[in-house]
Amino acid sequence: MSHNLNVPEIFASDVFNEAVMKQRLHPDIYNAWKQCIQNSTPLELSVANEIAEAMKDWAIEKGATHYTHWFQPMTGITAEKHDSFIAPTDDGRIIMEFNGKSLVRGEPDASSFPSGGLRATFEARGYTAWDPTAFAFVKDGSLYIPTCFFSFTGAALDMKTPLLRSIDEVSREAMRIMRLFGDTETKRIVTCVGAEQEYFLLPKDMYAQREDLRLTGRTLFGALPPKGQELDDHYFGTIRTRVSKFMRDLDEQLWRLGILSKTKHNETAPCQHEIAPIYTDANSACDANQLIMMVMKKCAAKHNLVCLLHEKPFAGVNGSGKHNNWSLATDTGHNLFSPGKTPRQNARFLVFLAAFIKGIDEYQDFLRCTVASAGNDHRLGSHEAPPAIISIFLGDELNAVVNSIINGTNYTDPEKSVMRIGVDVLPSIPKDTTDRNRTSPLAFTGNKFEFRMLGSSLSIAGPNIALNTIMAEELGKFADELEQADDFDSALQKLVCRTFTEHQRIIFGGNGYSEEWKEEAARRGLSNYPSTAQCLPTYISQKNIDLVTSHGIYTEDEFRARYEIYLDAYRKIINIEAKTCLDMTLHQILPAAVRYAKDLCQGILTKKELRIPCKAEDSIARKLSDTTDKLYLCCEKLREDLEHIPEGKEDIVNYYHDTIVTDMQNLREQADILESLTDKSYWPYPTYSDLLFY
Ligand code: ADP
Ligand code: MG
Repeated sequence: MSHNLNVPEIFASDVFNEAVMKQRLHPDIYNAWKQCIQNSTPLELSVANEIAEAMKDWAIEKGATHYTHWFQPMTGITAEKHDSFIAPTDDGRIIMEFNGKSLVRGEPDASSFPSGGLRATFEARGYTAWDPTAFAFVKDGSLYIPTCFFSFTGAALDMKTPLLRSIDEVSREAMRIMRLFGDTETKRIVTCVGAEQEYFLLPKDMYAQREDLRLTGRTLFGALPPKGQELDDHYFGTIRTRVSKFMRDLDEQLWRLGILSKTKHNETAPCQHEIAPIYTDANSACDANQLIMMVMKKCAAKHNLVCLLHEKPFAGVNGSGKHNNWSLATDTGHNLFSPGKTPRQNARFLVFLAAFIKGIDEYQDFLRCTVASAGNDHRLGSHEAPPAIISIFLGDELNAVVNSIINGTNYTDPEKSVMRIGVDVLPSIPKDTTDRNRTSPLAFTGNKFEFRMLGSSLSIAGPNIALNTIMAEELGKFADELEQADDFDSALQKLVCRTFTEHQRIIFGGNGYSEEWKEEAARRGLSNYPSTAQCLPTYISQKNIDLVTSHGIYTEDEFRARYEIYLDAYRKIINIEAKTCLDMTLHQILPAAVRYAKDLCQGILTKKELRIPCKAEDSIARKLSDTTDKLYLCCEKLREDLEHIPEGKEDIVNYYHDTIVTDMQNLREQADILESLTDKSYWPYPTYSDLLFY
């Protein structure tokens, strides 16, 4: 692409956004839509019909022939089914047709999406409903309509529905606090999210040669290359031409879709990169992140690359995550996690901070579960990724403020002994010094919290649902207490001091990667679930069920269904990996090693006849044969263990984690030794150095 891009002109050019609606809809229709968004009321069919007509005309001008209800099932990715606009006429021609009914409601053939038992087989239908708060867009010749996905009985079968519920709920409870502080103007509180996305790019031809990458998204084998990331020469390094062409193309496509793609750079590992859009409201951010992942994959293919979103494509090399930056703001754009300039604003900030600290402490396990997956198990707690233990990093300044409140000592002024909330001004908290601790899973970064435990392939909806719900719960409890108070300021002072004191164990500023922290965290009673198998059962604890049902985020059935789906996904992923492992071992690795050993032995025989020394070949051939035998034993063990899967949901998941994953590791160890012993020309697939240093 050598043409000059007019970015402001192309930005959002493929989005049916508010500006387009204002321009293309009759003012009455536009206002009716606006009303429905502001008050969360349903659209009348006549209004929907008009919008559908305008959408269709606009989409056809953009080259669309089809429309699709785009939804986010519990697979974590998005789904779409395309219908064309065509409708036959009496005289054998067609017209392009689209009406309000088709816009508002769809019925995809949804029987094969996971429902966790929410959809009985006799009523396998699922329905999609337009989310009028998210904008439709045109991509690849189709009009994409963002939708929620639910069952015949109305149970949510997707990630978007609970996210929308949580966004409303945290707004409702936060508004109670706003009113207590005398705010009469704010109408809504907005959840703001900016997700940084990491990914790997590999050459397509090499990817195609590896069954493990194609079937599981990660390498199940591979000896470490002589060079890794130790030189740190990739991080922020110059971007390869091929990659930079991809990135340019990607940016253009994302901008057209109205995504605020802002930052791109090389990451720590070779072939690893990052993209970050500017933050938006959580619903848009979630849609945008799904689109980014989708467009990245397509765009990579166009450039003869493959985009890997797996959390750990390569052992021994940094994995990929997502950083979920989260904050709350008023509808007029005031960030509630910004330490303010007046005592009043500071008091409000401290209330929101206290609610956050209390909520994270009380619902650590819930938040942890939202990032539990087979892929992320390789990452959390390993040397470069955040630990599996949840803690909050506040930074020196804010930490000192919190401590001064807990201890009744003053932060800056030794004359005053107590920091009086609502009366004193906070010491200023410089934004730049707040983000130093990269080992923290949840860091305060000046005016937002950055949650770093998300895996690169996961939907960001999960943790945002958790963060919103937890906040709603704590803010609601605070409001209950403060609304009853006779003296607001002194009640506030007590509440904040008590909360910081009771929940200070969750605050940690040290090295989250260290062994000492694990011990310290255990002493503090923080939970530490290094694996999905250990973590998931806590998801459906009574405490979590009460939390999500009391706020109407999930019904108990919906919540339990998700648990089933997560368990099931884990089991299925490990099962595919194990079978791929066996397949590659038996059909590629063993034959290659045997062939090489055989050729070596023939050479040895010839040399021996001629009385030529052959110690090297002899030694390699023996090691090869020895390792081949060991590998075969590992193979047999894995095959056998796969035939003895226990009954019972939790037992299955534990078994896959304890037995199958261990078998695979043992098998890999032998295979990687073979790789290092075998002549490269015999080796059946590209090695780590081929893949990472192409
Ligand atoms: P980094 O983490 O690389 O230092 P930044 O702090 O600039 O980068 O921002 C990372 C992400 O956080 C971006 O997507 C940015 O738009 C987003 N972000 C910035 N401010 C907020 C906020 N108040 N709420 C939510 N996300 C935010
Ligand atoms: Mg970051």
